Amino acid sequence: MRLVLLGPPGAGKGTLAGLLKNNLKLPHISTGDILREEMKNGTPLGREVKQIIDAGKLVSDDIVTRLVENRFLTDTKLKQGYLLDGFPRTLKQAEDLDDILKRANCPMDCAAYLETTVPMIIRRLTGRRVCRGCGFVCHIVNRPPKKTGVCDVCGGVLYQRADDNEATIKTRMEEYLKSTNPIVSFYESKGVLKKLDGDAESEELYEILIREFNEEGRKQYQH
Ligand code: AMP
Repeated sequence: MRLVLLGPPGAGKGTLAGLLKNNLKLPHISTGDILREEMKNGTPLGREVKQIIDAGKLVSDDIVTRLVENRFLTDTKLKQGYLLDGFPRTLKQAEDLDDILKRANCPMDCAAYLETTVPMIIRRLTGRRVCRGCGFVCHIVNRPPKKTGVCDVCGGVLYQRADDNEATIKTRMEEYLKSTNPIVSFYESKGVLKKLDGDAESEELYEILIREFNEEGRKQYQH
């Protein structure tokens, strides 16, 4: 399964990616995760992007595209399958991704677009908690951890992302509508867009996607 996950912040891309990654052992490439890791480690790149990310703005196309390009051109396992999450976010990134996937010989099967309503986005993002250890995503109301503040998967500490507050969410939504939304038509015109109901539970979306990919393909990714 070679999948690009599209949709506004809070559409459930990360949660769906988590299910696909854990069950099918698919490599998950999240530009947001990569950038947060750089920030956590205090690298020059992390320091460069911190203010932009904390403000809910988009990091430059050059920076994120280079990260994705490096990964695709060096990791040959991606030919068998991948989940691309949070990239592309601008039309320029989408065009560059086409070129990268061609050069890496990793064409996408489809771009899964999670359509979501604004109240759902706000509810999801303000209640979202992420594990510092393994990156597991939960929600204080919808998917509460068994023990407050502790990750169910690895026992790590749960934290709230600095950009998951109402003011920054507003900026992220504006960025999404201006820069990312046009990508939906871009993939629709290429005939690779698959629309999904982003307000539905991630487990339901997972089942839909699995049904779409045949059993043979599924077995291939399970070991
Ligand atoms: P995410 O975890 O996907 O919500 O991304 C968190 C933040 O990282 C975004 O709000 C952006 O500031 C930055 N970011 C992640 N991916 C991209 C991208 N493809 N283009 C530009 N900025 C990005």
